[in-house]
Amino acid sequence: MQIITEPAEMQSIAESLRLQHQFIGVVMTMGALHNGHLSLVRIAKQKAGTVIMTIFVNPTQFGPGEDFHRYPRPFEQDAALARSAGIDYLFVPSPEKMYPEGFHTTIDPGPISSLFEGRSRPGHFSGVATVVVKLLNITQPHIAIFGEKDAQQLTLIRKVTGELNIGTKIIGAPIARESDGLATSSRNIYLSSSEREQATVLYRGICHAEIETGEGRTDLAVIAEEAESLIRSMPDADPDYVSFVDDETFEPADKALPGKAYRLVMAVRIGTTRLIDNWRFVCP
Ligand code: AMP
Repeated sequence: MQIITEPAEMQSIAESLRLQHQFIGVVMTMGALHNGHLSLVRIAKQKAGTVIMTIFVNPTQFGPGEDFHRYPRPFEQDAALARSAGIDYLFVPSPEKMYPEGFHTTIDPGPISSLFEGRSRPGHFSGVATVVVKLLNITQPHIAIFGEKDAQQLTLIRKVTGELNIGTKIIGAPIARESDGLATSSRNIYLSSSEREQATVLYRGICHAEIETGEGRTDLAVIAEEAESLIRSMPDADPDYVSFVDDETFEPADKALPGKAYRLVMAVRIGTTRLIDNWRFVCP
C-alpha cells in the first residue's frame, strides 16, 4: 500500500492507472476506521482492480462548535487497517493542500442541502459536495462507494455527480451495525457506558417503525412521532429530528402511498454526541 499526501501526485498516479486500463474504486473516509468503512472496502475490492482510500477530516463540512478539532485521528491504526483490508493507495492530504490560501470555489447542491442534516448543520452539505468532487477529480475513480448510514449525503452525491456530468458510478452500501443494532460510527467512542446503552434507542425506534409499517400502517407522521417518544424516554437522548421522508427528494412524508420508497431519518443527541441513523421502507 502506497501512502500519498500530495493531491497532484495522487492525480497523476490515477491518470497512469487509467492509461493502464485499471478499473479504479474509491472509498472516501474521515478516518477512525471501523467495520462500516471496511464493509465499503470489501464492496470496492469485489468490483475494482485498484482501490484507493482517502482519509481527510474535511474542515469545511464542520460548523462552528462542532467536533472538528476533537474528531479522532488514529493515523497509524488506520493505515494498518487499510493495508490489511487490501487498499492499494491511501490518500491522506492536509487541509492546506486541499484548500490553499485564496481557495474560494464551492458547490451548492440546492434545496436538499437545507433539509434535515442540512438544516441542523448549515454549510455542511456544500462542504461535503465540494470535497467529494475534489477527491473524485484527484482519484479519477470508475466507482465510488458511500454508506447508506449517511443517506442524505449519498442522495446528494448522486445528484451532484449526475448534474455535473461526473462519470464515476456512485454505489450505496448497507449500514453496518454493532450486535445490539447501534449503527457503527467513529463518533460512538465519545459515548460513556451509560450513553452507549441508551444509544441503542435509535435502532429500537427503527424497529418500532419496521413493525408498525409491517402491519400495514401508512400513517408515517404518527409512526415517526411514536419512534421519537420512544427515543425521548431515554434520560440522555435529545432528538434533533425523527421523520419519514420521500427517499428520492428527502421531503417530509406524512402518508405512505403504495409502491413508493420512504426513509425514516433521525438525528439524536445522546449526551453531547450527535448520532444519525435511518431505515428505508417501500410501501407494498
Ligand atoms: P465517515 O468517515 O464517517 O465520513 O464515513 C466514510 C464513509 O463510510 C461514508 O460513505 C459513510 O456513509 C460510510 N459509513 C460510515 N459508517 C458506516 C456504517 N455504519 N455503515 C455503512 N457505511 C458507513
